[in-house]
Amino acid sequence: MPDPALPDIEDFRSNARAWLERNAEPLSEASHTNDDGSAVWGQGSDNVAVFHNLTEQQEAERLEATRAWQQKKFDAGYAMLNWSPALGGRGLPNSYLRAYNGEEARFHVPSAGELPPTSMGLIAPTIAAYGTEKQQLHFVKPLMRMDILGCQLFSEPSAGSDLASVTTRATLDGDEWILNGQKVWTSGARFAQWGLAIARHDADVPKHKGLTAFLVPFDADGVEVRPIKQMSGGSNFNEVFMTDARISDALRLGPVGEGWRVAITCLGFERDHSGGGGGGHAGGGYRQIQALAQHLERGDDPVIRQMLARLYTDYKVAQYTNRRAAARLKAGQTPGPEGSLGKLMWTANMASVSDAVSLLLGPRLVADTGEWGTFAWGEHVLGAPGYRIAGGSDEIQRNIVGERVLGLPAEPRVDKDISFADAQRNARIGHSG
Ligand SMILES: Cc1cc2nc3c(=O)[nH]c(=O)nc-3n(C[C@H](O)[C@H](O)[C@H](O)COP(=O)(O)OP(=O)(O)OC[C@H]3O[C@@H](n4cnc5c(N)ncnc54)[C@H](O)[C@@H]3O)c2cc1C
Repeated sequence: MPDPALPDIEDFRSNARAWLERNAEPLSEASHTNDDGSAVWGQGSDNVAVFHNLTEQQEAERLEATRAWQQKKFDAGYAMLNWSPALGGRGLPNSYLRAYNGEEARFHVPSAGELPPTSMGLIAPTIAAYGTEKQQLHFVKPLMRMDILGCQLFSEPSAGSDLASVTTRATLDGDEWILNGQKVWTSGARFAQWGLAIARHDADVPKHKGLTAFLVPFDADGVEVRPIKQMSGGSNFNEVFMTDARISDALRLGPVGEGWRVAITCLGFERDHSGGGGGGHAGGGYRQIQALAQHLERGDDPVIRQMLARLYTDYKVAQYTNRRAAARLKAGQTPGPEGSLGKLMWTANMASVSDAVSLLLGPRLVADTGEWGTFAWGEHVLGAPGYRIAGGSDEIQRNIVGERVLGLPAEPRVDKDISFADAQRNARIGHSG
């Protein structure tokens, strides 16, 4: 029975469609898909890159176009559909978000790499979960409107999978914290204004307990962002150095000593977010493979048909798992192990797409003949493995599923009950011995 307090979902859908028609170009006209959602071969861009290798200026322009779109969408009331009204959202059930997304998927809308999804999908909900009322007011809406951008300052040169081993130090001095340390692989940092960092305020307690989270302004003295030049040409990632960077205690996110919980919540959003599903993922997905198989007249080949059926099924399973995770969030629960399953399925599906194009294209994947939609797949094949590492590697996701879903024995954690300082000392003795 529909809730009389909610707008009729079909009216909502048609209003959203009408708004999109007024403000965006339909995908079929942008020459990407037919009306049934299948890809149109040979028209529009054939870019299926997972990570875009752009110059700083190209990246800035792309970000600007995405920002303009997001601001328009926000001002029309479509950017925070399932967020609570207290935070500026419309408080609608996820079914409305799905209805809107389904409509938006038929249109060509700008989207720029990793930073906007990190900022809106990870940083904003983490601040909503742990921020004071003042922090929520200050950050959530501006992040969701892309007036400001936030990135994730978690990984360090010697703390990735074992994130609780971060060594960036946070020292309280009056009502300010002094941060010292180095972060690495920070996606999008050179265009962000804020970073959500975890740092160690106490090395004399076990590693997970001595961490605190902070919102670090990149214009603070002592904060330096250095882009990493990738071998493929672009600079999607950065190092961020903090040297005696002073930040106000008002920018601490969550209580002192709760940094691990903040980080885990943020990573949970990341897994839920990257779970994705759907056939039209950035970097090329089922629809594009189907169009490729048809173009190559391999659609009747039983091996290819089997492969396409498998790919379609896997995309659907990932989509349903993702919906289950979204329903859990909507019910007020924090992200659970469904996120790990969703992320594993997503990266496995990207790998299957790489296998499928390798089978279909053979040498055309590595030798550029100039033919549309062929050599371009190389950028998918080379980029996809990155997401098997980002946001917690496949192995770490499997550990989570093993322990939290299957109830398998936990990994041995020799440093669980000793102070971080002692664990570091033991590791040094172990190495030298
Ligand atoms: C595309 C991309 C974007 C990223 N963006 C960001 C970002 O914006 N912000 C940020 O903070 N970080 C970011 N990272 C960093 C990312 O979170 C780390 O690379 C990741 O957590 C792995 O850490 P590591 O690189 O230190 O590898 P390590 O932790 O050293 O792992 C090396 C290998 O050992 C395996 N391994 C480690 N521990 C275990 C275990 N207990 N059991 C089984 N196997 C294990 C791993 O799976 C991996 O194969 C990004 C990384 C990539 C690739």
